[in-house]
Amino acid sequence: MDNNLKRSIILDHYQNPHNRGLIEDATYFKTNMNNESCIDELNIMLKVEDDIIKDIKFDGEACALCISSASIMTETLIGKSIKEAENILQNFLNMATEKEYDKEVLEEAVVYDEVSKTPNREKCVLLSWWGIEKILNEIKAK
Ligand code: ZN
Repeated sequence: MDNNLKRSIILDHYQNPHNRGLIEDATYFKTNMNNESCIDELNIMLKVEDDIIKDIKFDGEACALCISSASIMTETLIGKSIKEAENILQNFLNMATEKEYDKEVLEEAVVYDEVSKTPNREKCVLLSWWGIEKILNEIKAK
């Protein structure tokens, strides 16, 4: 994917974030994520039904990269099984830490394939994905 296209996808998700805004619904799992190295603070909620991620919502104060990444994360993971989502999360993390990864499973999230070159922004991009990882671990621990 060329850099201009990557930039325009990231900008578009920042300007028009998908699935931003929380709702009152006790059937969702929730978490709060903070990135001390930036302004980012996200609240994330996720609904699972029959092992499928039915919905993800997020909100909070965060920088452009963090918001766009959260938006892309919701688009990538909604509709996936927990197992598929875990595989995507692992590949996303591998990409961000310069390990081998499968770019096919990452869909639009490959726009962050150069984030490892700017380590100070890595947490901004990863924060929402870590939030989902945390929620999925909590679900599995039940
Ligand atoms: Zn940030």
